[in-house]
Amino acid sequence: MSAETGREVYDLTIIGAGPVGLYAAFCAGLRNMRVKMVEALHEAGGQCAVLYPEKFIYDAPGFPKILAKDLARQLLVQAQQFRPTILFEEEVQNLKVLEDHTMLLEGSREKHYSKTVLVAAGVGAFAPNKLEALGVNEFEGKGVSYFVKDKNALRGKRVLIVGGGDSAVDWALTLRDWAQEVTLVHRRDVFRAHERSVAELMSSDVKLRMFWEVTEIHGSDHVEAVTIHSSKTDEESYMPVDAVIVSIGFKADLGSIKNWGFQIDGRTIKVNGRMETNIPGVYAAGDIASPEGSVKLGLLATGFAQAAVAVNHAKHYLDPSEPVEPEYSSTKRLLSPHVTYR
Ligand SMILES: Cc1cc2nc3c(=O)[nH]c(=O)nc-3n(C[C@H](O)[C@H](O)[C@H](O)COP(=O)(O)OP(=O)(O)OC[C@H]3O[C@@H](n4cnc5c(N)ncnc54)[C@H](O)[C@@H]3O)c2cc1C
Repeated sequence: MSAETGREVYDLTIIGAGPVGLYAAFCAGLRNMRVKMVEALHEAGGQCAVLYPEKFIYDAPGFPKILAKDLARQLLVQAQQFRPTILFEEEVQNLKVLEDHTMLLEGSREKHYSKTVLVAAGVGAFAPNKLEALGVNEFEGKGVSYFVKDKNALRGKRVLIVGGGDSAVDWALTLRDWAQEVTLVHRRDVFRAHERSVAELMSSDVKLRMFWEVTEIHGSDHVEAVTIHSSKTDEESYMPVDAVIVSIGFKADLGSIKNWGFQIDGRTIKVNGRMETNIPGVYAAGDIASPEGSVKLGLLATGFAQAAVAVNHAKHYLDPSEPVEPEYSSTKRLLSPHVTYR
């Protein structure tokens, strides 16, 4: 708490508690920085927790295979060792640099003050693309869903998945051992998914309906069936199902971040090799960052590395007598897991 102003000023405030923000909080803890995280959603983990919690990740360092939700949970536990303040359901809507160089973050509920800021806002606030079919809104939450929160709820059910991207294919493969039957409806015959997953899908017992689209959802209190239409033959078919998972992508919007004074490149913030934005003391890492002269991969591994680079430069920015390079984490004694929620 600053004595002159009465406001609490953190060393680093991280916008977004996705995987990259969480790992950044851990890195900042290693450097004894006081950290606040501000997250728009009701939970931590970003895309891993919200968009594909039940999908396996095969390219997270140290884990040959890990469910996205488990990786998100482990990242949260790792970050919590240094007791960051984590605020949920708080969207940062504006960033201003005050005369004394303190950063003011205007949130949807309150103001936050910080000496440095890391923007780890991923693809921004995201929302799923909605299915255009009769009855879809009526049955949302009653058998129609855009995410799978808990695959146990689908055990023994007849599940219909709509879509042809990574997420739809991954769900089809994941759920085939849980559901009574899985049908994948896709309006084309080409999948925008990983080759290995598509090959697995083709040789699986998932029922494929290519060149078909869902036109209507039927039921009373809950989904009971769908009507599907073939764009190739103009046929219609009535299919009894218990659950419809719509996985036709999501819209992402940087929202107000575009207007905070950053150099923007498409949906990303331009940064240099130190992950510095054009605003001194403000860094960006993860999906939202496009580092100059580097290929953008949009992977967890690259985001984690960027988080480490950003945080260690932020430490040096805060106190130039501190080296950029950290000591090894194995030489630090970590605190027992604990977190301050407000
Ligand atoms: C279907 C799918 C499968 C994938 N599979 C893999 C994989 O196997 N391996 C891999 O390496 N990568 C994979 N990825 C990519 C990986 O998930 C992303 O690279 C990673 O999530 C980026 O992390 P992030 O923390 O930068 O952003 P995000 O995960 O998007 O998290 C950003 C967080 O910031 C919050 N936020 C945004 N704006 C604000 C604001 N103004 N105020 C407060 N909070 C805000 C968001 O709510 C979100 O929680 C996959 C992605 C998808 C969609």
